[in-house]
Amino acid sequence: MDLGIRGRRALVTAASKGLGRGCAEALAAAGVDLILNARGPEALTATADDLATRHGVKITAIAADITTEAGRARVLDAAGPVDILVTNAGGPPPGLWSDWDREDFIRALDANMLTPIALMKATLPGMINRGWGRVVNITSQSVKSPIAQLGLSNAARAGLTGYVGGTARQVAPHGVTINNLLPGIHATDRADALDQGVVKAQSITLDEARAQRAATIPARRYGTAEEFGATCAFLCSTHAGFIIGQNILLDGGAFNATL
Ligand code: NAP
Repeated sequence: MDLGIRGRRALVTAASKGLGRGCAEALAAAGVDLILNARGPEALTATADDLATRHGVKITAIAADITTEAGRARVLDAAGPVDILVTNAGGPPPGLWSDWDREDFIRALDANMLTPIALMKATLPGMINRGWGRVVNITSQSVKSPIAQLGLSNAARAGLTGYVGGTARQVAPHGVTINNLLPGIHATDRADALDQGVVKAQSITLDEARAQRAATIPARRYGTAEEFGATCAFLCSTHAGFIIGQNILLDGGAFNATL
């Protein structure tokens, strides 16, 4: 299917690895020029070079911490006007409800709520003026179904979801869509890091921890960054203009609900 976005420009943050990279790759395959960001320059440059070579699109790579004001300013300056924004950042650390103090919450809110909001505030006016735009926020299945040890993530992402619910309806008249993608378990470094916690707690191997978790998912496997990216690219396509303010769960059926 031609996604109808060849030649558009997209900013994808936290995109050198994992789900962000999956989104960047699918957009590049659709002919979209990219501004990519991550903190570590090495993996970021490798990803940018790889995608540019394989898909023949223009890529600008900016190494910066997207959760800081200075980092966002550098990325947004380099990006200029963009038609598509995919927001992403690392997830907060796991813990127990009683572990977290105010500063932990502020860090989580900064990374997973206020950073995507700041990126939207910076890029939405241009999209509105040009009468076309797409925003996809990478959030988490924890918005629908809390993950007890990820209380910081549950809280921050729920806040972002509330903001998007209203804002998506305010920008929709201008041809701009905002939607959230909610990953369940996907095979990335982040999933490995969470599985390592189970390895330690239960004295089992990483393969055993993965098998244990996969058994709880109706699809009996982890998702891939490629299938996640394909969904993101579809939401950014010309065909998805009537999808507004939705929270799309990609979890292999893990969330048990009829609707
Ligand atoms: P990942 O494989 O660890 O990749 C994270 C990417 O983000 C890397 O490119 C990393 O590069 C970059 N990054 C992290 N913090 C950053 C920052 N402050 N500024 C700029 N770039 C940053 O993670 P993932 O699995 O793709 O997860 C992406 C998001 O989805 C996370 O918020 C995660 O919590 C959420 N999520 C993931 C899953 C899952 O199963 N994978 C499930 C639910 C939710 P650098 O480290 O070099 O910056």
